[in-house]
Amino acid sequence: MNLFEMTKEQQAMVEGVKELGEKWLPNVSNWDREDKAPLLELMHEAKEYGLLGITVPKEYGGRGLNVIDYVLAVEQICRTTRSWLPAEVIFRSSGPGPAIIIAAENEECRQKFLPQIVAGKKTCTIALTEPNHGSGLTDLETTAYLDGDHYVINGSKRFITGAVEDDYYTTFVRFDDIPGAKGIGCIVVEKGTPGLRIEHGPEVMGARGCPHGNMFFENCRVPKENLVLREGNFSRLMSAFNVERMHNAALSLGLAEGAYDDAVKYSKKRKQFGRPIYEFQSLYHMLAEMWIEIESARYVVYKAGLTAIEGKYPEVLDVSIAKVLANQVGRNVSYKSMQIHGGDGATKDYMVEQTFRDVVVASFGGGTMAVMKNVIASQLLGEKLDQRRG
Ligand SMILES: Cc1cc2nc3c(=O)[nH]c(=O)nc-3n(C[C@H](O)[C@H](O)[C@H](O)COP(=O)(O)OP(=O)(O)OC[C@H]3O[C@@H](n4cnc5c(N)ncnc54)[C@H](O)[C@@H]3O)c2cc1C
Repeated sequence: MNLFEMTKEQQAMVEGVKELGEKWLPNVSNWDREDKAPLLELMHEAKEYGLLGITVPKEYGGRGLNVIDYVLAVEQICRTTRSWLPAEVIFRSSGPGPAIIIAAENEECRQKFLPQIVAGKKTCTIALTEPNHGSGLTDLETTAYLDGDHYVINGSKRFITGAVEDDYYTTFVRFDDIPGAKGIGCIVVEKGTPGLRIEHGPEVMGARGCPHGNMFFENCRVPKENLVLREGNFSRLMSAFNVERMHNAALSLGLAEGAYDDAVKYSKKRKQFGRPIYEFQSLYHMLAEMWIEIESARYVVYKAGLTAIEGKYPEVLDVSIAKVLANQVGRNVSYKSMQIHGGDGATKDYMVEQTFRDVVVASFGGGTMAVMKNVIASQLLGEKLDQRRG
């Protein structure tokens, strides 16, 4: 018995995603090798399949669906393409960036950005991490203050996926030098704004094709209507940011499934000692173990999708558990799949090498394992450790 039955609409969407993924699959190694992909073109293709603005309300041109629909789409595109980049197309129009804009207090901000994103004309990403503050987000140093009709931003960000290429950056800033979490809010910064400089960041071993860059704000003046939320709204922002963790969990699950599919295919074809290698009990059991891990991850990932608040914002405990487990499963299963491929698993002739790199690198986004475990423990125990004392 299935604990979760897809509706007919969800089944049709997943079939569409599979078809699109099969179309993209022959290109994903090139996007990885060249660290470049035709993102806008891919957005237009995804639009044909109804994959833009999945969770964006209909009044802004979106499909008005729920997080679980988003999860199914991300899982399937990763399973079919065995890689990270294709999911970025869905991320850019329905992921945490748009989710944060939907949470804006100000209607003008939603009207200005969401229809452009949903139409696939503009892409949107998230800018939180700074050179001195990654896990310690509540210490961030990028500041903003109001000057007439503009906010003036100063500071820098790093590891911003899509920096250089994206149009909109939902940027976390500290308002008026107010210390701690209570000073943090968010503003959408548009590419090309005077005072904003963007450069490529360091080369990464996986999650390639949409470079991760650095952003520098020097008296960068952003119109007032780009404000998402001012200070005093950290928990609302983090609630929208949980869509990032949801994405990350669904992606890891899909990559684990893709790596498993490849392991099955390879082990049925490859013969040693006159028999297909899956007949050796160590491999036979390895496949069983991989599927057990995948099934367990799928339950928690779907649970986090299904229990999202108003269908939109995943609950912090559910999504944190989903991210930790799916990241572990993605890494374990793709590594086992590499072993099943023998020496071929270490070559670029087989997808599993890229799947492994992608799932390992992607897991850093949205919070490291240790940070997610801190979140889970604080939810379970009802109190936070003082991080400064460790
Ligand atoms: C490929 C990639 C894409 C990314 N994309 C984006 C993006 O688009 N936007 C964005 O804003 N950021 C992005 N990031 C940044 C990512 O969110 C950070 O790398 C991550 O949050 C960790 O921060 P850090 O790298 O500064 O590591 P640090 O915070 O310096 O952590 C270093 C180590 O210390 C541990 N640690 C830190 N604090 C604690 C604690 N309290 N308890 C236990 N252990 C702790 C960590 O777990 C880790 O092991 C991306 C990163 C990568 C690698």
